[in-house]
Amino acid sequence: MGMGGRFVHGDDFAAAVWRELNPEPFKRKAVEPVSPGSRERRLRAIEEAGYNTFLLRSEDVFIDLLTDSGTSAMSDRQWARMMKGDEAYAGSRSFAFLEETVRELFGFRHVIPTHQGRGAENLLSTALIRPGHFIPGNMYFTTTRAHQERNGGTFVDVIIDEAHDPQANHPFKGNVDLDKLRDLIRRVGPANIPYMYLAVTVNMAGGQPVSMANMKAVYELCREHGIPVFVDAARCVENAYFIQQREPGYADRPVREIVREMMSYADGCCMSAKKDALVNIGGFIAVNDDELARRLRELVVLFEGMPTYGGLAGRDLEAVAQGLWEATEDAYIRHRVRQVEQLGEMLRERGVPIVEPVGGHAVYLDARRFLPHLPQDLFPAQSLAAALYIVSGVRSMERGIVSAGRNPQTGDHYRPRLELVRLTVPRRVYSLRHMRVVADAAAQLLSLRDAISGLEMVYEPPTLRFFTARFRPVSPWGI
Ligand SMILES: *Cc1c(COP(=O)(O)O)cnc(C)c1O
Repeated sequence: MGMGGRFVHGDDFAAAVWRELNPEPFKRKAVEPVSPGSRERRLRAIEEAGYNTFLLRSEDVFIDLLTDSGTSAMSDRQWARMMKGDEAYAGSRSFAFLEETVRELFGFRHVIPTHQGRGAENLLSTALIRPGHFIPGNMYFTTTRAHQERNGGTFVDVIIDEAHDPQANHPFKGNVDLDKLRDLIRRVGPANIPYMYLAVTVNMAGGQPVSMANMKAVYELCREHGIPVFVDAARCVENAYFIQQREPGYADRPVREIVREMMSYADGCCMSAKKDALVNIGGFIAVNDDELARRLRELVVLFEGMPTYGGLAGRDLEAVAQGLWEATEDAYIRHRVRQVEQLGEMLRERGVPIVEPVGGHAVYLDARRFLPHLPQDLFPAQSLAAALYIVSGVRSMERGIVSAGRNPQTGDHYRPRLELVRLTVPRRVYSLRHMRVVADAAAQLLSLRDAISGLEMVYEPPTLRFFTARFRPVSPWGI
């Protein structure tokens, strides 16, 4: 039965369709052809890529769910803005537009562009971390922790325990455990904690949000001890949408207002604009403190470029600013998060084990339950990502022991409890029908799972190994 059958005279039909079917709040203006190719071609491609989906060529990929980073479709308005980019070396009008936008949407005083999120992380870590420092955070992120360690700091995970349990159903699984944070402050002393780094949403926990109440409590606790709080704002709009949907008192507040309130519980943020800001490249750091801003501007000149362009073209700054305005529209963000949820629903209906609840940017397959016969040393999530590509041409990403890397002190693997495959949905790119293909492919693979024998690592780079490590099956796979 279609929508028509349930329509009651006098209801707003369009509003009901909007709610139930989640139609795209945009239409196509440019397209790019894609196809699954042949099975032989996919087998050859994954062999050549060393069973690492990062090393596949995108032309061999049908539906690319490797990442939501820099893969958004830009709007006609963003493209129009790009033509208006002011490429002056100094005093660019495009910088002024970005600065006004971030001030207005986030409320921070100083805005410094960087080429992407890790550029901002580099500036913040270099400015504030000294050897022996501890940096609490709600679960690690790869580039974030790498920059903290590069500056002699030690990351300390203070996320709630539920975040490490793929089946724990908590509405704000990204929350900080205030007792863990208090313990750390007591144990090492506030003088050894240069800042608290709060990710909203938490990428590595499956795109899980942090509640407004928790953000506020973290900020107050840190303030008591003179510890500044910086937010990882890569997916702050998705986080705001979850607050609107799940936290009492926010149902009628526009997402834009919620974002602004979230940022009022922080001293600044680093943002990879490649996520929620709907652009292909870009980022920035924004802070309130004048002295910190001065040091960041000294560093940005060294690593990125003048403080008014930070390694970006004027046109990129225009696209970031325009993207931030579009991302914070309720109709956009509702469709975006709902589409990810719909992929989760289709997988659940097919009995595929996923992380619950579904996060903002991705659905995560639980490789421990999907491939229960594989021990962590045979890289279950890496194996699952490679197998999904072979059966369908769908590209996903490992988020398990390979991504976690090694402890620089002991040289041992970090052994995360979560062994996940991330199906990351690019913004405004794929249709619900594409999501259906992904769900069917995962279900098909589930029926063949016993034929996947696992992988061994044959090349390992010294840092961020998940990008370039190579593997081979321990015995041939019968999929
Ligand atoms: C992507 C990302 C970063 C790093 O940003 P880049 O633009 O890739 O350098 C930092 N934190 C989180 C949560 C991210 O998702």
